[in-house]
Amino acid sequence: MTDKTRYIARCLWSLGLSLLLGLPLPVLVSAHQVIRHELHVVLQPDHQTLQVTDSITLPETLPPSGAEPRYFALHAGLSPFSLTSGVQLVRQPTETLSVPGDSHVSAGGSRLPLERYAVVFPAGTRTFVLQYQGAIRHASLPQGPQDAWSMPEISGMLATEGVYLSGATYWYPRFNNEMVTFTVDVQLPLAWEVISQGERTRHERVNDATYVRWESPAVQEDVYLVGGPLTEYRQPAGPAQAMVFLRTPDVPLAQKYLAATAQYLGLYNTLLGPYPYPKFALVENSWESGYGMPSFTLLGSKVIRLPFIVSSSYPHEILHNWWGNGVFVDLQQGNWCEGLTAYLADHLLQEQRGSAVAYRRATLQRYTDYVSTHSDIPLTAFRTRHSAATAAIGYGKALMFFHMLRQQIGDKAFISALQGFYRDNLFQRANFDALRRAFANVTGEDMSDVFQQWVTRPGAPELRISATTVRPEGQDYRLSAVLDQVQPGPAYRLQVPLAVSLQGQEEAWQTTVTMAEKHLEFTLHLPAQPWRVDVDPEFDLFRRLHREEIPPALTQLFGADKVLLLLPADAVAELKQGYRQLAQAWPHASSQALEIRWDQEIEALPTDRAVWLFGWENRFLPEVITALTPYSVGLTQAGGRLEGTPLTRAQHAVVLTVRHPKNPQQTLAWVATQNVAALPGLGRKLSHYGTYSFLGFAGDEPVNIVKGQWSVLASPMSVLLAPVAGSPPQEAAAQLAPRRPLIALPENLQP
Ligand SMILES: [Zn+2]
Repeated sequence: MTDKTRYIARCLWSLGLSLLLGLPLPVLVSAHQVIRHELHVVLQPDHQTLQVTDSITLPETLPPSGAEPRYFALHAGLSPFSLTSGVQLVRQPTETLSVPGDSHVSAGGSRLPLERYAVVFPAGTRTFVLQYQGAIRHASLPQGPQDAWSMPEISGMLATEGVYLSGATYWYPRFNNEMVTFTVDVQLPLAWEVISQGERTRHERVNDATYVRWESPAVQEDVYLVGGPLTEYRQPAGPAQAMVFLRTPDVPLAQKYLAATAQYLGLYNTLLGPYPYPKFALVENSWESGYGMPSFTLLGSKVIRLPFIVSSSYPHEILHNWWGNGVFVDLQQGNWCEGLTAYLADHLLQEQRGSAVAYRRATLQRYTDYVSTHSDIPLTAFRTRHSAATAAIGYGKALMFFHMLRQQIGDKAFISALQGFYRDNLFQRANFDALRRAFANVTGEDMSDVFQQWVTRPGAPELRISATTVRPEGQDYRLSAVLDQVQPGPAYRLQVPLAVSLQGQEEAWQTTVTMAEKHLEFTLHLPAQPWRVDVDPEFDLFRRLHREEIPPALTQLFGADKVLLLLPADAVAELKQGYRQLAQAWPHASSQALEIRWDQEIEALPTDRAVWLFGWENRFLPEVITALTPYSVGLTQAGGRLEGTPLTRAQHAVVLTVRHPKNPQQTLAWVATQNVAALPGLGRKLSHYGTYSFLGFAGDEPVNIVKGQWSVLASPMSVLLAPVAGSPPQEAAAQLAPRRPLIALPENLQP
């Protein structure tokens, strides 16, 4: 998945805002207990109102209440009352909702309008009926600035363009972080459709209304109600039903998603175990989103029409029905589901296309460039991504952790452990320790150490190789070397892959060495003379990369603590104005110190920070041109050529990154165009191309026409030994044994 894809369908696997918003209530229905709701709902979008009758059954495991009240929270202004004789509601004072430390704040910072009630009921009563009605008006489209790394969240909406109600809307009574089962009967406008979890058991149009019932006997964390003026398409997908709901009818588009649904459900059924729901629906949203709910996904209109989504973000959202929406996440102890979903969707697809090594390198590059020691957290502290750094940990580090588990125990045991984890935890909240137990069951080992060092410890190992010596030994050779872990803190236990290129052998000699201390001296006995050693050549270890292992790329500027942005004082007035506005809106993390200056105000490029250089007219452009020499771009004041694509000063926008000539730890990026109209678009788009070294754009939008990474010229993890007669040039990368993907792509999904 490219950076761009990652942005456009930002996966907000719907993470129980419930847990983030949970009320501290004096008498709890525990998180393990299940409450049943039988909801009858009339939606009146023209008035932004709903009417609800909810028959609530409390769990049998609750002790009889007697005089002991239960408490629930509900969206404000709905005026609930009891239809069950003997059951009384007592509204609680509002101030209890704003106690210090209460987290009843939506992502946008606005406080949810909630009311809290005590329910008093006679001993022996477990079922009672509430009725309420009113408006859900407060939340419209997501507001506020968005960047490439976080997702808009809304707490609910009910309007003519559509309905979006979730647990976070508190549109039904919520007692605590309890689990629920439900049926929901909905009366809605004639041209509307509405989707919830589970199976649709009624769909009728009578007079001027549509009647729909959804049933979820499977335990859930929320009750969703999502819909609007939609056209429905469906077809069987094995034992489940594939459904598509579009805001604008489009048969070919619907067919594409229906077919993909059946194919990916089949793929993951085979890999992990039976899909847990009766249907999977793609629902077109009224705003741009990438949400994954149990048994459906809610994607924006632009997103679903991007051609690559159906084979990138879409399988990711489908897989969340196993991880996150099938086995739920015990968020208090860390969100494991994004890393596992990214590994078995995004990474698996890259494996099937033969580009998994580049994917892992980019994953490690994001961690190296975005996560500093002060922004690092352990996986147990990851909840959801809200920055480039949290994404690099919660998605990137976690997926590398699963990759290392697989390398350690082999594909068969890895798959078997995941199948066991799924089987044992379906429809329950699970944590990393439940995962550990699943792996322990399969391997017969405790696995505590490996989970401890990657899951509860922040940070990453950093490796160095040194003191390589070769000497002949009879017909054979001995290669000795030293590996050091140079990160602060204790050693990691690592299985370090090595590849040694040998005289007369096309494929490298591959092995792994076990490293349990920070310092390891090792000797390899080799059947021929070695001429090159590569440490972790396929990026199988989660580790902080050396600067020289990563090509210059935009991640280094977006991830830098300090950045200088230099504007071209010599540009024509219109361009100067355009660049200045671009600089003022330039995307950067709130923790980054960004200084904006005119190029004529400084004597020389500073060496202690990353630098953005804007404009063909920038007086420091010659330094960029010089630094580009190793990459043979042939950039002149008139233009250049990137991977065969000509880029001219007059017609294109160009972005190039280079190492700082005086400090290779720092990166320079040059951004230039003569087209003022392209500047705002560049500002919006660049952060989605973080891992690239160079980019070319055309037009006002502007549209990307070329992108790529410079090759890595001298990795400190590759050691060139004494040249050997008849061997390829030493710079040639080691030839490694081919690997098989975790599961083959079905025929009909071949790229
Ligand atoms: Zn996800």
